[in-house]
Amino acid sequence: MRPTLALLLALAATPALAGPSRVEQAAMLRDAALAASDALPLLTDLTTRVGQRLAATPAEARGREWAKAAMKAAGLVNIREEPFTMPVWERGAESAEIIGTGQKLAIAALGTSGATPPEGITAEVVYFADYAALQEAAPGSLAGKIAFIDHRMMRAQDGSSYGTNGVVRRAGPALAAQKGAVATMIRSLGTDYHRNPHTGSTSFPTGQAPTPAVALALPDAELLARRLAAGPVTVKLISTPRSNPNGQSANVSGDIPGSGDEIIVIGGHLDSWDIGQGVIDDGAGMAITLSAAKAIKASGLKPRRTIRVVFWGAEEEGIYGGRAYAEAHKTDRIVLAAESDFGADRVYRLSSKVADTGLPLIAEMQRVLAPLGIAPTRDNTAGGGADVAPLGALGSGILELEQDGSRYFDLHHTPDDTLDKVDRAQIDQNVAAWTAAVWLAASDDRPLRTK
Ligand SMILES: [Zn+2]
Repeated sequence: MRPTLALLLALAATPALAGPSRVEQAAMLRDAALAASDALPLLTDLTTRVGQRLAATPAEARGREWAKAAMKAAGLVNIREEPFTMPVWERGAESAEIIGTGQKLAIAALGTSGATPPEGITAEVVYFADYAALQEAAPGSLAGKIAFIDHRMMRAQDGSSYGTNGVVRRAGPALAAQKGAVATMIRSLGTDYHRNPHTGSTSFPTGQAPTPAVALALPDAELLARRLAAGPVTVKLISTPRSNPNGQSANVSGDIPGSGDEIIVIGGHLDSWDIGQGVIDDGAGMAITLSAAKAIKASGLKPRRTIRVVFWGAEEEGIYGGRAYAEAHKTDRIVLAAESDFGADRVYRLSSKVADTGLPLIAEMQRVLAPLGIAPTRDNTAGGGADVAPLGALGSGILELEQDGSRYFDLHHTPDDTLDKVDRAQIDQNVAAWTAAVWLAASDDRPLRTK
């Protein structure tokens, strides 16, 4: 079934023979993963046995137990759990209704938002076309009102419209509250027209009490905008999340030890939002990177650099795990870091941020990944995923295997983040790309750190 991998195993066991080159080894690993990888079985097991994994809850802790067992089964060693503290936030009851019509609105509370009284609040809604319009509102002008912030997020392969509209969710509720709003509703950061609200984190500056904040599904946001254009609208909003400042989460890691002291970190984040099943965000990233490490381990090839798989905790509510990991490992020789956190669809582009001495390695990766339909970038300015950005800021090289995000924001942070959305051929293409790229980096010694 897999003659090339069998050949690789045989050659690895007989080092006296002149074996294939690193590039040839990477191509063999690529082709074996493309034929069949363990990513979908791993993802199925995680999301069936554990399901959603909201940060700092018992569900996330069950995810860590799953992760340690899966790493052990993959042949990883030095399996560790590294705890850190953070606030825990859990959703309560939530509903919204346009007064006088009986029309319910499909909503989801935003992470870290505050609570209404159990009976809810009833207030007039004020429309803002975007975040800039809210910024222009006079101080105190929203006293006693509910702010509704609209925006126009566009479908894009690279997901860039999420970044440019993200301020509406991250900072809109706090700004509206500063102008007197008793609550905030936003149009979901999403691209689908199902009645699925997209949750996600918001934040309030230190010292500012969180106010209720919810996202509306796109059809409901558009209904509300039409009614507001026709005249005043009053909404009854109930959202009763609970929060506790003394929660605990943790990062989980495991290694394929290298012969030297340099380390390559790959992985995904272990936590997920609560309203879906934690599949594309980010069970997929966990499964893709663990499957790649497992394939390298199973090949019998011995890396020069340690390959470390890290599953970061608590990404969604403020990158707690990524920041804790970088702080705890700032003296480690982490030369390259890469995260898979953009769903399970195919990789279409390879980008990096490495020292100039590492660019020939990136060019090797481009050659080996080209048959998978992966195009190069040339600017060497990749930022990396949220959890590896803190490592990059400390000087680790960054590798990004950019996934096609054309449909990612139809599903992201919604009840539709479920296993049936994963396409096996596409997730296996991811594993093929990761396996080849990680092997090329792990078998090499050219310097990659940027400082
Ligand atoms: Zn994610």
